[in-house]
This record gives sequence, structure tokens and C-alpha cells, in this order.
Amino acid sequence: MSAKLLEGKIIAGKIKEDLKREIAGFREKPKLVSIEVGENAASAVYIKSQKRNAENLGIEYELKTLDAKITQQGLIEEIKKLNQDKTVSGIIVQLPLPKEIDHKVVMSAITPEKDAEGMHPENLGRVLLGSAKLAPCTAKAAMELIESTGVNLYGKEAVVVGHSEIVGKPLSMLLLNKFVTTCVCHIATGERGVLPEHVKRAEILVVAVGKAGLVRGDWIREGAIVIDVGINRVGDKLVGDVEFEKASEKAAFITPVPGGVGPLTVTMLMKNVVESFKMSL
Ligand code: NAD
Repeated sequence: MSAKLLEGKIIAGKIKEDLKREIAGFREKPKLVSIEVGENAASAVYIKSQKRNAENLGIEYELKTLDAKITQQGLIEEIKKLNQDKTVSGIIVQLPLPKEIDHKVVMSAITPEKDAEGMHPENLGRVLLGSAKLAPCTAKAAMELIESTGVNLYGKEAVVVGHSEIVGKPLSMLLLNKFVTTCVCHIATGERGVLPEHVKRAEILVVAVGKAGLVRGDWIREGAIVIDVGINRVGDKLVGDVEFEKASEKAAFITPVPGGVGPLTVTMLMKNVVESFKMSL
């Protein structure tokens, strides 16, 4: 089998068209405020992409660069001001934060209604309850890609490799909400040497680890949907966690890296901002 490519850009393009049309119909425009503490080369790339995406859709984007020496309490005070500001629809705090600041405490200070990343404990709880309007962007992006295949998910066997709070854990809940039989693997699965056994069963495989070539092509089940969330720099190239060429021979659908999950993640951030705006009306 030669897999069909799940191109994030194309799927994101369709979602963005819908968002653009919806935003054009609003009397006021949604606004996303991005907070960075000090300037950071790693977050600069994300900020640029967020700004471009927001402005293309008609979402106002404001970057607030705070002093690198700000305290955790100082940062929380800034967030509280934005929570109160009726012109602000969504808030995102760029990582990394200085090591003295606990990012979980900071994320929890964002009011759940303006939580653009969908990482507030209340929103994560709603993911579990199946009633989330705002959910973690990467998990939502992976789910969009899976659903874009048109395959009936009911009762299918999914294996999610990686159990982080931003991808693996919320995605496993989104899958369960669709009645997918879901197994979550993590570092201990790998250390026990049983990762191939699990992966071989997957009709839907999502890998979000951050280790190039962790999942071998010959582990892929014939006809599987393969979503590779991993981003790894190998020499001057970006690659995923799955051995792409070999996996493509067995899978029915596969995401490329780059160009798969990435472009959809930022689109899901924009979708969350629009959702927040609508909730505020
Ligand atoms: P993380 O470091 O928080 O979590 C890694 C997970 O992998 C953990 O659950 C860990 O237990 C598991 N793991 C580690 N070694 C393993 C092994 N040998 N076998 C099985 N499981 C193993 O990572 P994260 O933040 O979830 O990100 C994962 C990857 O996804 C990274 O490459 C990151 O860059 C990428 N990512 C991409 C996007 C995107 O938009 N495309 C967004 C977020 C993260």
C-alpha cells in the first residue's frame, strides 16, 4: 500500500476559510494577546506564525513583551488585567518562561473563557467530560487530521505514543469520546520493550514523543492512519518520530513532517480564539 498524505496545510486552509467568513460577519473583531517574558529566539518563530495567521483571518494580535525579570506574581497581575479587559478574547503565554516561574500556575491564572491554548485545568476537565469548547491545540489538530480521513472511528483500535499534557493525554480523551478503543503508551512502555507489540495493533496511530525514528516502519499495521506529531532536527532536516518512507508503504494515511500536524496546530489556536469571542457575545 502507498499511503495517502494527510497534508495539514490543505486541511487548515479549509478551516481557515470558514473562520475568515465567520469573523467577517462579526461587528467587532476577536483579539488574541500573546505574552512573552523577555525575548526568546525559540518563541519568536511561533509568535511570527501566530501573528500572520491571526491577521490573515481578521483577528487582532497584540504581543506584550514583559521584562525578563518580572516575578511570577507580577506576571499573574498582568494576566488578571487581560482577564478583565473586554476587548481581549484570548490569551496565550509563550514558553519557555524563566525557571523561577511555574508555568502551570501561570496558565491557571488565565480565565478559562480566554484560554486560547485550552490548557486551563477547567478546560482539560471539560475535555474529559466531552463538553470542551476550548481544548489543547495539538490534540485537536491530531483529531482533525484523523477525522479528515473520513474513516468511521467507532470501535477502532488507537494507540497514542506519548502521554504529555499537551498532546497524548487530552488526545486519548478526545478519541475515547468518539468511542475509539484507546491505548496510551509512554516511556515505561518503551523501557519494558513492548512498544512494537502495541503499535502493531493500531488502526489509528498517533506518535508524540520527540525521538526521530522511534517507531519503525515495519511495526505499522496494514491500512493504518498514522499521525506523526514529533518534530526532530536531524542535520539540517526536520523529521518526525515515525520512519516515514517504510511506514508509508503500509499505512493508508500518513502525515508528513513538516507539513502535517504543525500547520493545523496554529489554526486550532485561532479556532479557540474565535470560540472564546463567541462565548463573550
Ligand atoms: P513531552 O516530552 O512532554 O512528552 C514525551 C512523551 O513521550 C512522554 O509521554 C514520554 O513518556 C514519552 N516517551 C519518551 N520516550 C519514549 C519511548 N522510548 N517510548 C515511548 N514513549 C516515550 O513531549 P511533547 O511536548 O508531548 O512533544 C512531543 C513531540 O511532539 C516533540 O517532538 C514536540 O516537538 C512535538 N510537538 C509538535 C507539535 C506540533 O504542532 N506539530 C506541538 C507540540 C509538540
